[in-house]
Formats: sequence, C-alpha cells, structure tokens
Amino acid sequence: MPVETKNVETLALHGGSYRSDPATGAVAVPIYQTTSFQFESTDHASRLFALEALGQIYTRIKNPTADAFEERLAALEGGVAALAVASGQTASAFAIFNIAQAGDNIVSSTDLYGGAWTLLSQTLKQFGIEVRFVDPVDPENFRRATDAKTRAYFAETLPNPKLNVFPIREVADIGRSLGVPLILDNTATPIIARPFEHGAAIVVYSTTKYIGGHGTSIGGAIIDGGNFDWAAHADRFPLLTQPDGAYHGAIWTEAAKPLGPIAYILRARVKLLRDLGAAIAPQNAFQFIQGLETLPLRLRQHNENAIKVAHFLAKHPAVSHVIFPGLQSGESRRRADAYLKGGYGALVGFELKGGVEAGRRFIDALKLFYHVANIGDARSLAIHPASTTHQQLSSAEQLAAGVTPGYVRLSVGIEHPDDILADLTQALAQAEVGGSARKAA
Ligand SMILES: *Cc1c(COP(=O)(O)O)cnc(C)c1O
Repeated sequence: MPVETKNVETLALHGGSYRSDPATGAVAVPIYQTTSFQFESTDHASRLFALEALGQIYTRIKNPTADAFEERLAALEGGVAALAVASGQTASAFAIFNIAQAGDNIVSSTDLYGGAWTLLSQTLKQFGIEVRFVDPVDPENFRRATDAKTRAYFAETLPNPKLNVFPIREVADIGRSLGVPLILDNTATPIIARPFEHGAAIVVYSTTKYIGGHGTSIGGAIIDGGNFDWAAHADRFPLLTQPDGAYHGAIWTEAAKPLGPIAYILRARVKLLRDLGAAIAPQNAFQFIQGLETLPLRLRQHNENAIKVAHFLAKHPAVSHVIFPGLQSGESRRRADAYLKGGYGALVGFELKGGVEAGRRFIDALKLFYHVANIGDARSLAIHPASTTHQQLSSAEQLAAGVTPGYVRLSVGIEHPDDILADLTQALAQAEVGGSARKAA
C-alpha cells in the first residue's frame, strides 16, 4: 500500500507503490538490468500487447526500476502518472509531439533553456509544427497568439539568465478558458514550485539536474497532472480523441478510462517510446531514485546558501547588479513570491563591473566552484556565458537573451556557506585586481 501523506520529505522516500522487491524482499529498488520480460502464457502475452493489461514486455517501453522512479516522482509532484525518458530534451520534445502534428502550432515563452530554444525554433519546423514565441511579461500575449490550431503553451518556471518567474496561474487560466494545456519545465525548481497547484497540465523535468543532484546521469521525465479534460476539447486533440490506427482504432481518452485520467501519459508511453525509443536506462532510473530520496533536504540547503550568496554579492564593490528572484521588485517579485515556496532556487546571476575580462578572470580564479555548463549539482558551479555558451551570438542577441558582457551565472551548491563565500571573495578580488593592474600598466 502506498504511504498516505502529502509531505514531500516522506514522498521522496516512500511515494508510489514500491515497498520492497516482490521476488527478494530487497528494500532498495533493484536495477532490473534486462531488455525483456518472460510472458506467463500466450494468453498473457496477447493481453499485454492489446493493452488489456499493463505489464512489462520490453525495457524500451516499461521497466520495473523506471516504474518505481516514475511513481515516486508523480507522487512527489502531485500528478497522476509519469514517464521517465532518456533526457530532459526528450521530455520536452515528447510532451509536444504527444499532442501536436504537422500543421499545428504551440505558443511558447521566449525565455527558454538553450536546447529547448533550438528544439522549438528550429527542429519542430522540420516536423511542420509552428512555434509562436511570446514575451511572458504580459500573460495576455499567450491569448493573442492562440488560434484553433494551438495545441499547447510551453514555458519554464524559472528560466535563466533573467530568472523571472513565469506567470503560471495567469497563463494556465487563459489556456483553460480556450482549451489549451500549459506544459511547464520545472527543472530549476522541483519542490519549490508546484505547477499543478497553479493550473499547469503537464510538467517536464531534466532529471539530470536537481533530481539526480550528483551530476552522474542524463535523464528526463514528463508528469501528467490528470487535470486537463482532453475529451472536452476533442477538436483540438485528435491524437488523443480520434481512433488510433496503430492500436486497432483505440481512442486514448476512452482506453485510459479504467486506469484513471492518464490518457496523455499512456499515449506518450505506448506510442512515442515504442516508436521513437528514447527510453531511460534502468541504471539511470536507479540513480534518480537515489537523488529523489534526499531532494527535499538538498533543496533546503541550496535555497539557504543561494540567499546568502545573493546578499553577499549585492554588497560587493566589484558587482554592479545581482539577478535573483529574492532580490527582485515589482511584478517579478510578486510572481516569485506567489510561485516559489521555501526559497528562490539555487541560481544566482550577477554582473561584474569589469565586463568580459573581469568575467574571465573571475571564472579562472575559482577554486571550489566548478566551471561547467551544468546546473543543479550538489557542488557549486559557475559559468560566464559571454565567453562560452553565448559566444556565437552577436552582442545584440546576447543582450536580448539577458547575457551582458560581465554576466556570471552561479548554481549554488550545498557546501558550507562560509566556504562558498570564501571562494567568491577570493575570485572577485582576482577579477578586480587584474582590472586595476591593467589600467595602471
Ligand atoms: C538541462 C535542461 C534541459 C535539458 O535537459 P537534458 O537532460 O540536458 O537533456 C531542459 N530544460 C532545462 C531548464 C534545463 O536546465
């Protein structure tokens, strides 16, 4: 029996139906490192293939280690079911492919992760799916871009580098009035933000980041909130509400009824995983289960440390500006406080007065922070986008993306805060010294 609670600390350890391994009694979820599962009989095999019973056939579609991870994540997020996949990029792509086809469109926020930006602006075009980008500063922009072919809204809860929290409730409500679901990438704010409580229909994660937490594995997940009535907007969602030729004319909103409000995630598994095949490896699902167990605890420390770092940087003479939800004002701050609970996440951006050269010197002087493009590791991480991730963009494009020459992004880890501040102190001194020495020369 699943443990009955709403507390995330408990759900992270006990969420879902896994209690112990039925074959051995093992308490830790075993790594079912197998491609295939033997059928009990030809009758059992037929029922599985006809989807009359949901069971294991082949690890590309379903695996017991992945099942335990999916159920725990769905319980933690407050959704009805989840699908684990090979990466965060796959999660975003599948979330869209599951309801959109050639001739359809998606309305997306302009503030996106780089990989999501190229997926939506370039690769979806190849499949005939148009993406209309709108500025989330005004939620009404989503309504204005919607037409009869719009299949979803897409956004990130806390997109960097600007770190402006997305107006979740505002856009979800517009979508619901028009029959359009909000797909939200909650990678930067697991537990801190609860998108389903604010009307989002689907949540996607790169589990590579905080959920894994230890920088060992690439993975992703799609979680179905079970709160969107696809059948009520049948014209918008023919892929879910019209007979599917690949499954004897199954209608997913009907076929899912005995299992719960899981038409969306059921189709993603049996169609997209089956045909496109970006399955999670059992070993990686196991790593993410270990990550989930301490996620609430780690995030508490990430949150506390990031607040200390942001306030420290705000007072530092080498820094002209700090970008952090907890230091914003006006509407951005209102959204941060409405949608983030228990902290503001671990991402802190800041602008060095010394520009590009100071940014380089700062990064090269770091001893504790790692210089990597990743976020969400237990270790502290830093990057200077102008000289790395965004170097191919023109200065105008960099500015539009929120990347100024002296901008540095930190993903604050869970080390002791004194040691984090000490590393920043010495690296900032190096960034400044180099600048004044050059000027003097
Ligand atoms: C990293 C990241 C992704 C992509 O995830 P991968 O696991 O690297 O494919 C998507 N969205 C956000 C917000 C990310 O940080």
